[in-house]
Amino acid sequence: MNVFTDLESEVRGYCRTWPAVFERANGCHIYDETGREFLDFFSGAGALNYGHNHPHLKAALLEYLSGDNVVHSLDMSTTAKREFLERFHAVVLEPRGLDYRVQFPGPTGTNSVEAALKLARKVTGREEVISFTNAFHGMTLGSLAVTGNALKRGGAGVPLSHSSVMPYCDYLDEGSSLDYFELILADAGSGVDEPAAVIVETTQGEGGLKSASESWLRRLSSICREHDILLIVDDIQMGIGRTGPFFSFERAGIVPDIVCLSKSLSGYGLPMAVTLFRPELDVWEPGEHNGTFRGHNPAFVTATAALDLWEASDIASEVDAKAGMVEKELMSLVAELDHTDHRGRGLAQGLVFDDPAVTSAVVSGCFERGLILETSGPHGEVAKLMPPVVITEEELEHGLGTFRSAVRSAVGAVR
Ligand SMILES: *Cc1c(COP(=O)(O)O)cnc(C)c1O
Repeated sequence: MNVFTDLESEVRGYCRTWPAVFERANGCHIYDETGREFLDFFSGAGALNYGHNHPHLKAALLEYLSGDNVVHSLDMSTTAKREFLERFHAVVLEPRGLDYRVQFPGPTGTNSVEAALKLARKVTGREEVISFTNAFHGMTLGSLAVTGNALKRGGAGVPLSHSSVMPYCDYLDEGSSLDYFELILADAGSGVDEPAAVIVETTQGEGGLKSASESWLRRLSSICREHDILLIVDDIQMGIGRTGPFFSFERAGIVPDIVCLSKSLSGYGLPMAVTLFRPELDVWEPGEHNGTFRGHNPAFVTATAALDLWEASDIASEVDAKAGMVEKELMSLVAELDHTDHRGRGLAQGLVFDDPAVTSAVVSGCFERGLILETSGPHGEVAKLMPPVVITEEELEHGLGTFRSAVRSAVGAVR
């Protein structure tokens, strides 16, 4: 029996993209069981921004485990949780002047989004939440109701309700998407109930790497303030340095009411999530929203160690420099090839092909050449380059060269 095809459910996905059985991983590389090396431009969909098995994080984790420190504790107070909260306050919140309460929902991204949506509805007493075209917020019913993808929504099997969709930044032209939103809010006949919250990604990781401009985000934030609507930024994929700064919204100069973080928060690929919100919004009753895995101490330990990296180096400028290399490469491919376009920012950029069959050929061509990357967008039309943010310029250059040759040969073969 092949357990992967005969025992594991048909729902499996990524293993179909990369036909290999992976065994070890280190830094920007992952190895299959035959010892074949792949450069990782996937980074666990954004869960491995510091690469695989980062030595500083691993050392902290091993020390914690070998000392018989507590692993599972629901939301009891532990020394590991205290250290994480102290360091998160000192390294992330305080220097940015952010006054947020920290909620530990269940350990995944969608858990953070569900907590955010529930809290926004409880605080405002309203039901409606506004999301944007091509948004991705997770697979549980509340998150799915604010997610755009038709295939994923179809999996719900029940009506997805209490949400309305508005055009994202460049869905219409940039200005008119928010003109439309304002029109809807002002029109008692619009059919959209007064919203509790707006939920937005600064760059749509799954929805095709479309980015909101800083001015669009600022205008969205002021519309929310004007109408007393809570602004939730889902920074699960674009946060923790993916686009440079710790929070992807920092450069726009906005302060969301609620922030969702998960993926690279633990820094080690261990499940961990937080929902951050302004203290005035903290209207939860004790235990009103709970879960068994809200205090995964090994994840606290690696998350705390990962914050050392933010103190030790200027991650944002390093990402800017590497993002410039990616952009230059992608722009030169766009100039060379017809029917292509560039999307994204920071170390979440991609090349869009008119024909998703070409994108798919690019991804397999990369795999054959020892480079792992995935697609993004409703038709899988974007080849998405997401190297670890700690990648060296040499490794990045190497991966971009592999990508270029896979693109040229895929374009030649499919046309
Ligand atoms: C991955 C992701 C989620 C969901 O996280 P899970 O851990 O898969 O539940 C939500 N929002 C965004 C933007 C994501 O990229």
